Formats: sequence, C-alpha cells, structure tokens
Amino acid sequence: MRPSAPAPRPELSGIPAYVPKPPRPPAAGPSHRLFLNENPYPPLPSVREVIAEASAATNRYPGIFPERLIDALSGKLGVPHSHVITGPGSVGIYQQIGQAMLKPGDEVVYAWPSFEAFPIVVRMAGAIPVEVPLTGHTHDLDAMAAAITPRTSAVLLCEPNNPTGTAVGAMRLKRFLDQVPSDVLVVLDEAYFEFYRSSDAPDGMALYRDRPNLLVLRTFSKAYGLAGLRVGYGVAHPEIAEALRKCAVPCGVSSIAEEAALHSLDAEAELFARVERITAERERVRAALAAPGREVPASETNFLWLPLGQDTERVTSELERHGVLTRAFPGDGARVTVGEPAANDLLIEVAEQLIRGR
Ligand code: PMP
Repeated sequence: MRPSAPAPRPELSGIPAYVPKPPRPPAAGPSHRLFLNENPYPPLPSVREVIAEASAATNRYPGIFPERLIDALSGKLGVPHSHVITGPGSVGIYQQIGQAMLKPGDEVVYAWPSFEAFPIVVRMAGAIPVEVPLTGHTHDLDAMAAAITPRTSAVLLCEPNNPTGTAVGAMRLKRFLDQVPSDVLVVLDEAYFEFYRSSDAPDGMALYRDRPNLLVLRTFSKAYGLAGLRVGYGVAHPEIAEALRKCAVPCGVSSIAEEAALHSLDAEAELFARVERITAERERVRAALAAPGREVPASETNFLWLPLGQDTERVTSELERHGVLTRAFPGDGARVTVGEPAANDLLIEVAEQLIRGR
C-alpha cells in the first residue's frame, strides 16, 4: 500500500538537530556571544568596502566554483588548482564528503565529543558512526586506529578538537595516519589552524602531499572572521577533489564571499594580528579560570573547554544570567569562545563569584 504522505528517508529520523537552542541574552544589559567560536572582531574596514563593492553585482550568478579564490589558495598553499575544493563554509564540504565518499552501511570512525556535524553527515549518508571516547579531553588515537575495520570507509579527525580545544600534535598525528589503511579516507579538519601555537603543530598541507587518502579542511569563518559569508576550502588529491566537486552545490560560494575571502588573504597581516590578540587572551583567561581542582585543558583554538560535569548547566545558566552566553554540553562541560577583553573579564568575574558562592 502507498503511504498517505511523502516520507523523508528513514535515516533522517536518527539525525540529531545540529543547532541546539542558542543561549538567551538577559533582558537588560550587554551580552556576549561566546557559544559559536566566532571571531569577536567585526570585518576590517577594507573588507567591508570590498563587500559593498561586490554587492553591486548580485544580479549576476557567481562562477560554478570561485575560480579566482581557488587560484589564490593554490598559489598561497603551493598546491595544484585541481587539488583545491571550496564550499559554503567547511560544513558545506562535509555534505559533499557525505555524498561523494560514504555509502550506506560504511563505518566512519571519529572521536566523541568532537565536531557536532560528524554524526549528522555520517547518518545522512546511511553510514554507521563509530564514536571513540576522548581520553583526557584529547583524541585517543590508539583506540581510533583499533576501531578501524574492513568496513571503515572514513575517519573524521578535528585537530585541534572542537569542543575541547585540545591537540594531538604532528608527531602523534603522523604515527596515526601511518596506521590508517590507504583505502580509508581521513578528513583532517583544521578549522582552527591559525590559532595553533605549539611548535609541534601539524600542517595538513605538508601531510597530504604523500598521502592520497588525506583530505584537509580549512575555513575563512574563524581566523579570517567571515563566518557570516560562508566560505571554506579543502585540499586533496585529484580523485577525491573531483568527486567532491561533482557533489558541490553549483555557485555555492557567493561572489561577495569570494571577493571578501580574496581580499582577506591579502589582509592577513592585519587579520593575524587579531588572531594573536585572541590567542594571548586565551592564555590569560585559561590562567585565570584554572586553579587546583579546576582543570581547563590547554587549547590551540579560539575557545576553552570547562569540564564541569554535572555542574555544567548550573554554571552556564548563571553565566547566561550575567550576559555571558556559552555552549553547554549537559553533564559534560561548557565550551567558551575567547571574546573581546571585556567579555573575557566578565566571564572570569562571574566564574569567580560562582566558585566563591559554592
Ligand atoms: N569544523 C570545525 C571543527 C568547526 O568547529 C566548525 C565551526 N564550528 C566548522 C568546521 C565549520 O566551519 P564553517 O563556518 O567553515 O562551516
């Protein structure tokens, strides 16, 4: 018998909602958005000019792909044009990965907690998530390698990790990559690459060259402050890059986003000075929040992880009441984006009050 109404694919019923309800700002007083790992600084005046100029031509379609941006990235990264993939944010590229590289019944290994898009992308493809718990707030690479079976088609790895900010470093990452069979795709998500300060920071662009199964993802949303324009990119060998391109939404990167991204590559000195301020603030906030019995893992990103366990909701709702809007992972911890100094000061002050009032 025919069903009485159009039915969505059954896989969708297992998909968690990606966007949790955003925290609510208090009715009065300022509030600070520290829940989405955004860059707190508004676009540079020169970027706004470029955006305004590009807006004059929005009656025209952009290219199927943003070819000028791809050229610029290929030059900057020293990789062939055919290796560069773009999308409306790196989440757009994840959708391409799901369509191009995952089949129903495939197993996909990733750490948990990690990037919240992972289970969605995997389930959407009808593939099976294999979640490997973090150990000490960090990827357990040995356990991840052990979780790979003949049915595994991909590993998703966020370095540094979201939501914990922790990093495994180049040495351990290379050892892991060498253990992954050559027919298993590894997606190395470097969304926070520019905030990584350790001398052992891996560079996906160097790693992918002799690893045809590695796909590296980066974004203009964080360090470049273009989250609202939706533009991300990836680099992989041509077989993977071509497959992903086939699954891309045509004209998926707007001409405004392309122009702003192009200009931002030229304005890196100014933008990265801001990144420097953010990483300095990160260390200041971490030092202020950490204390004996209060662990705040070292972060290589633009956010900090507070492993609050059962206290998470109490602390995050109290912060919310004071206008500090953070991302709660109930029962586990809170992710707090490093904001402008005033926001960070308020975070520290409220956290101190909470601890004293215990
Ligand atoms: N990867 C990771 C690890 C992220 O944390 C984020 C943003 N939260 C993204 C990708 C998505 O970034 P984009 O804005 O490029 O889609």
